[in-house]
Amino acid sequence: MALGEERTNVVILGSTGSVGRSALSVIAHDGAARLRARGLSAHSRWEPLLEQAREFRPRFITLTDPTAAAGLNGQLRGTGIELLTGPDGLERMVQDPETDRVLSAIVGAAGLRGTWAALEAGKLVAIANKETLVVAGPLVMDLARRRKATVIPVDSEHSAIFQCLRAGTPREVRRVVLTSSGGPFRGKSRGELKDVTPEEALRHPTWKMGPKISIDSATLMNKALEVIEARWLFDLRPEQIEVVVHPESVVHSMVEFVDGSVVAQLSPPDMRLPVQYALTFPDRVAGPCPRLDLSHRFSLSFEPPDRETFPCLELGFEVMRRGGTAGAALNAANEAAVARFLDGQIGFLDIPRACRAALDHHSFDPRPSLDDLWKVDAWARQEVARWST
Ligand code: NAD
Ligand code: MG
Repeated sequence: MALGEERTNVVILGSTGSVGRSALSVIAHDGAARLRARGLSAHSRWEPLLEQAREFRPRFITLTDPTAAAGLNGQLRGTGIELLTGPDGLERMVQDPETDRVLSAIVGAAGLRGTWAALEAGKLVAIANKETLVVAGPLVMDLARRRKATVIPVDSEHSAIFQCLRAGTPREVRRVVLTSSGGPFRGKSRGELKDVTPEEALRHPTWKMGPKISIDSATLMNKALEVIEARWLFDLRPEQIEVVVHPESVVHSMVEFVDGSVVAQLSPPDMRLPVQYALTFPDRVAGPCPRLDLSHRFSLSFEPPDRETFPCLELGFEVMRRGGTAGAALNAANEAAVARFLDGQIGFLDIPRACRAALDHHSFDPRPSLDDLWKVDAWARQEVARWST
């Protein structure tokens, strides 16, 4: 950034989460040279949010669970930091005229509202919250176009594809290939997965992430959601999207062009890199991430995914082809099923079953409004809540 240029004011929705903390690490490393935290949010845990506020001195913080705000009473006195509450607080932060970029890093469909508000205000949105695109991809991308807002992916695979796409024009793209680590249960049979515990499922081999996405990575639902995310983000045809298992998580995804050239993006697995790229785009800057060490022998491997052991993946392809309300039904059923699995109420293999049931029984609408999608979301959550195994 040239001298005299303004700094980028960043609002981080979900700053206390895994991606949110990665973003603050990037901002801390930048040392206020070009990035400033303008707004931070957490749902109910006010202690880590207060700690972040003391360190980064944003203009606003929001606790989306208003009942949690009592804990913060008086603690911000004299700091000049304004405390906001509820989803309205998110809207106020993202739509503030001085906000330049918004990092959407809330987990689940709960991230949709803040993302929507940021796009309505024409902001640049760095989107980690893939559920928003799974639930309402066409509506979200249409809103971005109408408001001339920019959407930059943060999910490592989509950041990779976004970077690789710069090597050609949209018409020159043959297909995109998303890589998957395979999760903690790669190589296991269905029988071996019957009794796995939440602790085992949370132990991801290459990435340290929040609990919901860690379970999604174990079922491969994460890759299913990413297939749908890729379709809407990059305006691809369903047959242009493929998945390959790559356990080392160094190749973050690839784009094959019509001439047969495959362009890939590589780096050690560290979410700070795609977060930083989205916050500084179109520039690249030195940051806190480790570099690829090529000084000793190492190899990269690729294998096809095991679609029988991990039926969630197929659900993703099916939902990507169907569009309409299918994404909202799948996402909500999965969120509810993952919560019940983490609570010990249902088994690991019940997650895809619950999702299958919700998809089969929901009343499909090919061209839903945002309201319709919220209704399907609520319906699918209720179905899974009373679903017995
Ligand atoms: P996390 O569970 O670590 O953090 C979630 C954040 O959202 C927290 O700040 C929490 O306070 C907030 N939050 C939770 N429920 C909320 C609600 N109902 N309303 C408002 N705020 C709420 O999650 P994470 O792993 O950081 O993932 C965040 C998003 O980024 C997810 O959509 C995930 O799929 C995506 N993502 C994460 C990673 C990763 O490495 N963690 C990688 C790619 C994409
Ligand atoms: Mg990913």
